[in-house]
Amino acid sequence: MAVPARRTSKTAKRKRRTHFKLQVTGVTKCDNCGEMKLAHRVCKSCGTYRGKEVINN
Ligand SMILES: [Zn+2]
Repeated sequence: MAVPARRTSKTAKRKRRTHFKLQVTGVTKCDNCGEMKLAHRVCKSCGTYRGKEVINN
């Protein structure tokens, strides 16, 4: 609910902001090599996607 800024105590404000966290979204662990990779994309380090090798190096 909208409340004038000075009506919200420092403590209340800080308690609310404990839930504000930096988080990286869309990043998962590769099933094949365990590296962090972007979801729904081919793994950059081992070149696999859904258990199949897609890129040959
Ligand atoms: Zn991988």
